[in-house]
This record gives sequence, C-alpha cells and structure tokens, in this order.
Amino acid sequence: MIVVLSKNVTSHDKELIRIYLRDRGYTVRDQQLGDDEVIGAAGKGVVDLRELGLLPGVERVAATSKPYELVSRETKTGDTIVSIGGGNVKIGGSRITVIAGPCAVESREQIRETAETVRESGAVLLRGGAYKPRTSPYAFQGLGMKGLEYMKEAGEACGMPIVTEVVSPELAVDMKDLTDMFQIGARNMQNFELLKKVGALGKPVLLKRGPSATIEEWLLSAEYLLAAGTKDVVLCERGIRTFETYTRNTLDISAIPVVKALSHLPVIVDPSHAVGIRAKVAPAALAAIAAGADGLTLEVHPRPDDALSDGPQSLYPEQFEKLMRDIEALAPVVGKELLRTPRPNSGGTISAVFSETPAREHRRKTPEPLQSQVVAYNGESGAFAEQALMRVFGEEAPRIQVQSFRGIFDAVLEGSAAAGMVPVENSLAGSIHENYDLFLRYPDIAIAGEVKLRIVHCLIADQRADMDSIAIVRSHPQGFAQCRNFLDKHPSWVLEACNDTAGAVASIAREGAVKVAAIAGAAAAEVHGLKVLKEGIETNPLNYTRFLVIRRRNAENTGTFVCTGPVPERPTKASLVFSVPDKPGSLFACLKIMADQGINLSKLESRPIQGKPWEYQFYVDVTIPEKDGAFSRAMEDLKGHTEDFHFLGAYRGSL
Ligand code: PEP
Ligand code: MN
Repeated sequence: MIVVLSKNVTSHDKELIRIYLRDRGYTVRDQQLGDDEVIGAAGKGVVDLRELGLLPGVERVAATSKPYELVSRETKTGDTIVSIGGGNVKIGGSRITVIAGPCAVESREQIRETAETVRESGAVLLRGGAYKPRTSPYAFQGLGMKGLEYMKEAGEACGMPIVTEVVSPELAVDMKDLTDMFQIGARNMQNFELLKKVGALGKPVLLKRGPSATIEEWLLSAEYLLAAGTKDVVLCERGIRTFETYTRNTLDISAIPVVKALSHLPVIVDPSHAVGIRAKVAPAALAAIAAGADGLTLEVHPRPDDALSDGPQSLYPEQFEKLMRDIEALAPVVGKELLRTPRPNSGGTISAVFSETPAREHRRKTPEPLQSQVVAYNGESGAFAEQALMRVFGEEAPRIQVQSFRGIFDAVLEGSAAAGMVPVENSLAGSIHENYDLFLRYPDIAIAGEVKLRIVHCLIADQRADMDSIAIVRSHPQGFAQCRNFLDKHPSWVLEACNDTAGAVASIAREGAVKVAAIAGAAAAEVHGLKVLKEGIETNPLNYTRFLVIRRRNAENTGTFVCTGPVPERPTKASLVFSVPDKPGSLFACLKIMADQGINLSKLESRPIQGKPWEYQFYVDVTIPEKDGAFSRAMEDLKGHTEDFHFLGAYRGSL
C-alpha cells in the first residue's frame, strides 16, 4: 500500500502517519513516486483506508492488488515521462524516442563516426557497451572505462546523451559521472544488489527484460530500482527465450500493451537483440511501434561486417535512415510523434531575404526554452488542440484556454501567450477558412511551426447513458463534418454546435444529462469523467487535422521564424498569400517562378477578398528547396508579379 503525501505535509504529520501504520501491523518506508513523496506500507496489517485517507498530510491512499507497488498503474495512473541528459531527451507520453549506436564501443573513431551518422538520421540518444556481458569469456569484453570516455566524448560532440550497460555495483559508482543513463542488461535483470546500487544513484535507468523473465519478475526488478530511489526507469523488451531458434530470441510483442496497462513506466523495444538478424530488425521495430512502444534501441554500425560484437544484427547506416523515415510516417497512426534531432540548419538563407539579419547571426541566437512559453488554444481541457500543443511544447507546457479562434491570435498579439495552436485544415472536412482569413487580419502574427494530429472521434456521454438514451449530440461543426456517415445512421438525433469538441463534453459533465452525447476525443472523456459510448466514429480512419503554431513577428525578423524545437532548424515549408493582376496568365506566371526554382506547391487555395466581390487571394504552401538562394530568388520575383504579397512564415513542416 502506498500513502501519497500532500505537498504541504509537515514532518510531524509524517511521523503520525508512520505511527498509525506501525500500530496496525505494517512496516513503513519513505519513498518517492514520480514527483510525489510517499510512505510505503508492507505487511499483513489491517487498516481502515477511509480513516487513513483523512489523516492530515495524506493526499490519497493507493492500494494495489499486485506485488509491485511503485511501478503499478494502480498507484500512479498517468504515464511517467523519463528525462535524460538534463531534460533534453524524454521517453514516454506521446513521443517515440530512438536510441541508436553500436553494440560495443570499439575505438574512439568508431563511436564518434557512429554517433554522427545516427544523429544525422534523427536518433536522440547514443548507445554503446563499454563493459560487455558476453556468453563466452573469450569474446570481446569491451574497452571498459576508456570506452566509456570515448563514448561520452562522442555524445557531447554530437549533442546526444548516452546510455551504457553497467555490470557490477562497484562499477556503477565509477561510471556515474560519465553516463547519462544506466542500462541494466538482460542477464543482470535479477542481480538485486546491482539494482539496489544503481537505483540509489538516482540516474535514469534502462531495464532490459531477462531472457527467461516473466512480466511480473521484470516489473519487480523495476520496483527494486524505484524503491532504491530513482524515479526514472524505462523498461525494455528485448526478446525472450522460447523453443524457436530461427531468431536469436522471440520478440514478445504482446508484452508491450500488457506492461503499458500494468505500469506507468515507459516501455521501449530492442529489436536488434530480439531477432538477431539484420534483415528482420526493421519489421520488428515497426511492429513494436504499432503495438504502442514508446521508443526503440537499435544497434547500428558504420561497417557491421567488421564489428567486434553483434555485427549480424547491426543495421547499416542507410538501413537505419530508412527505418527512421518509416517510423516517422507510422507514428501519427498510433497518435505519436517521433522525437528527432533537428536536421542541420544548412542553406538557411530565408530570414536574410525578409530582414537585414544575416542568417548566420540568426542561427546563433538561443531560443527561449519551450517549457517557459505559454501557449494559447481554443477550447477546454482534453481538446485536440491541447494534444497538438503538448506534441510540440511538451506535456507540462503552460497553456491558456480561449473561447474562439480569434482569441488565440489576440492572446499572442497582446503577449498573454508566446505562441498559439491554430487548426487550419482537416483531411476529411477540408480547410477551416476562418483561420486562414485571420492570418491576413493579424499581420503581426506569423506561422512558426506545423503539427499534424490523427483525430479519432468518440461518442461520449454520461456514465448512465447508452445509445438508446441519446437524443441530442453536441460538437464543433468540424466534429459533425468528420463523422457524417455515423450521424447519417441516426437521423433522429438533434445536432447542437459548440465552440469546441472538448467544450461539448464539459457541458454534458456540468449538466449530468443522459440524453445528450458529444463527439470529441477520448482524452476529453477522461478529463471530464464521462464514458465513451463508441470509439472511432470518424468517416475514415485517415483523419488528420493540421495545426499551425503561431507567434508574434519580432521586430528584427520581419517575416520568419525558423524554429519550433529547442534548436533552430532549417525550415522546410513556407506559407504565402497573394493576389494577381486581372489578366491572362498572371497566376500561371507566379506558379512558373516557383517551378523554375524547384519549389514544390503542397497546397493552393483561393479565398474571396473581403470587400471586393469576385476577386480572390491565393493561399499557397510550398516546400523550401535545399538549393542555396533558390527560395529567396523566387520570393523576390513573386513580389514583382503579385498585387498583394504576404509572407506568413517559414517553418519546419511535419509529415
Ligand atoms: C546490449 O544491449 O548491448 C545487450 C547486451 O543487450 P541484452 O542485455 O538485451 O542482451
Ligand atoms: Mn549487442
């Protein structure tokens, strides 16, 4: 049993809680559960849970039916998000985190070269063994401390935190300052003295599943780590031993959803050691992501055929690059996004075109940390826009809710928010024209980023409601449009439009009505304590909404923002609005300018110009070619061929 203490608990309160528990036959221990202080109680005592919950300093009491407590979802319902390397890299939540590197550190050059290539493809954490637990005593045992120093050097040079295996309690202490995350290998999963020692060091730990360990044994090993003091543990499925010998181990895909339901800890997968055959690594990796894994750890070697260990399962850099692209494409299907290192900021001359600030100088500026930026969105808690902003700015991002799309622009303009999240287009229902038009009405606002979110709609109602009790359905008009086919099957339902989908859910929660349902995302049902009557009611599962991040244009950079992430990135996309002279071929001339410079048009839409009946403006999204100067030349040229030219922003496009 876990007693979660309130934030303002006094030491006197704590002592009284301990005495209360001891008097009733429990042994007690002080522990940490995520950011909460807790008192763990073990034994066969008898206690009145309600009475315990009312003691001063008690936030809540979490009893679990499982032998593990701190790792259980029964004691902590929200996903744990593990921070590595001072918070630069996170594992868990709505992101997919990829760790890559060689099986073993073989030389200073080899680890540096591997770090550079995996980083280039988007890996965010560097792996590599300095101490290798090998089945044969005659096999390469690793370079030891020297290897770890090479790896730290490579990680620092490439801006990647490192994760490496620790094989003994004594070494853990020596390695502490050289590594960002400890790995406990499969063979050591039940080395309890090692678990206690490593857990007490307080660093993040990657805990691999033993080749013959049950899920319960694995979770109990994680419990050792948390009980010893660390709060950052990531579980890693790496294949178990079965009767099948074709692959090195058998990847237990089903362990992923099982463990994610049993525990709040992130779960990643190591397909390299699971299958042991290079050609099978990528399919197994994609299957793991599809099954809900929070990330992967992959062996990559610049020359696998020369590798000193695990060459046959190590990916060639090109294979890793391809796999990263596939993961990026798959991620939105499971409602996640690949956390990747920003691509190099080459050819970033766009800002120079629109301001006097030289591109190089612009790059040197350190952007404000994302966490400190307030983001505005339209709607209530649980809205899709809130999920979109958490994707870009993190789960803990401070945010404000406004009651209209216009309110987002006002909040950013007035400075009550540093950024805003604006939906502009849905793959089923089309453009949200109101928001397109707002860009022209707010010339001091620019587009700074883009995110595409898969939208799964649910029919949500009061706990007592069922399909037959429903007579009224509330949602945003976009929600109705995206669920047209489902609604057509229920012609008697009265549709009531609301400001946002989550707001529709909130209104039902307030009123407690059983005849009203809402169309919104499952997150809104959870936030407002309602139930999902039917999930996945959108007309087509390929339902995505595109959101734009907006910011205030700053004075020295009159048009562009090149960064939504922690490090400035080369923008890949830009949005423009222009009108053309009323004469034959004028739009064609504009399109030709872009075609001549190799600029790809990803969207072209016309909108009526307010106050000028039958005249139109063109909203254009383009991809920015890598070729130096091509984009700037085209923009300059366009200005000369258009009547009214607005550069809405250059940003990093999302898949
Ligand atoms: C490793 O990741 O380097 C390794 C040895 O893996 P495992 O402990 O899963 O065999
Ligand atoms: Mn290996």
